[in-house]
Amino acid sequence: MNHFEIREIPGKGRAMIATKNFAANEVIFEEEPFVSSQFSWNTAYGYAACDHCMRPLETLLENVRRLASDPKVEVPLLQHDPTAAWVAQFTQCPRCKVRYCSEDCLMEAQKRYHRVACMGAFRLDDSHPINVLNETWKKMHYPPETGTIMLIVRLMAMYQQSSKKSEFLEQLQSFQALIVNREQKIYHKMLGENFENQMEQLYRAFCHAFAGEEFASFTTPDAFKTLMGIMGTNSQGIATSVLAQWVTKVSDLPLPDADKAQLDTVIDEIYAKVGEFAGEFLNNEGSGLYLLQSKINHSCVPNSCSTFPYSNDIVVLKALTPIQEGDEICISYLDECQLERSRHSRHKVLRENYIFVCQCPKCRAQASDPDETSDEEDDDEMDDYDEDDDMN
Ligand SMILES: [Zn+2]
Ligand SMILES: [Zn+2]
Ligand SMILES: [Zn+2]
Repeated sequence: MNHFEIREIPGKGRAMIATKNFAANEVIFEEEPFVSSQFSWNTAYGYAACDHCMRPLETLLENVRRLASDPKVEVPLLQHDPTAAWVAQFTQCPRCKVRYCSEDCLMEAQKRYHRVACMGAFRLDDSHPINVLNETWKKMHYPPETGTIMLIVRLMAMYQQSSKKSEFLEQLQSFQALIVNREQKIYHKMLGENFENQMEQLYRAFCHAFAGEEFASFTTPDAFKTLMGIMGTNSQGIATSVLAQWVTKVSDLPLPDADKAQLDTVIDEIYAKVGEFAGEFLNNEGSGLYLLQSKINHSCVPNSCSTFPYSNDIVVLKALTPIQEGDEICISYLDECQLERSRHSRHKVLRENYIFVCQCPKCRAQASDPDETSDEEDDDEMDDYDEDDDMN
């Protein structure tokens, strides 16, 4: 039984409200995604992950050596390699050879989309329309990635394979619809400066890949933009890492102080080595759409957060602070570093990415702050394209 409900709040819209008290750290719910996909460049660069659930498919040693680009790096305490638990179960689609962490994932993928999505021997054929579409996307969306056209490709396969198409469409439509005239910004954010031209190219590649009559309702220009908008505004980033999971595991080991200090040094050295070569790109990264989690509103002082404790795409929503029955449950759509920025900077990110103006307690309290952007923001600043258009 769920201990929250989705309510319509006058003047605010949809909100998730707690129907019991939650203690800090308590799990509010966990949820599998409606759809998820690894990012296109992340796959291309050899980040091996289950094609269904994104669980890492490298052993710890393989992972560290690839990230450091050094086949001689050693890692201690390999008995705590988290992949040891599932490495024996790795499997693959017999036709196209995409890999899965388990028979369960293979069967689930077959059941929901892979029966029609399987490209068989064409998976590595550059001229296959799906690969052309993916390449078109990759050329306009370089790392760090925030989305992938392959998420939409998977949605199309789910639709094609679904025996309950109206139910599928209802679920898809339950993701926040875009507000007319605001959608441009999302495309701009996803596709960069030349977004109108990019959108046109992507649209043509999409129509070519889904030319069948059964996709007709998705291949109009407006329907395609809506799909892009759903991805742009609702998708949750997913990151899985065998290294991060191992670090968490060994950091909790009951070791004598001297051994602990030595282990910390070794972990620092490993991170320095992989950081030198892989930089910030340490994780298997992708994104997913979650039917429930996407209904949670943003707050700059969130009382809950999304976690991925199983090293796959299952999101676990946890209370950050005690939550009382009747309170709204909120998460932050900003990463930690963005949360520390000024109100003006936070609003800029939220406007550009999620198309709303935050009215959380922190933002209301800072409403009279001067409209200054935080200094750290300079690096990822886009142009001042929409400076004066707050929504009220
Ligand atoms: Zn899996
Ligand atoms: Zn296959
Ligand atoms: Zn706020």
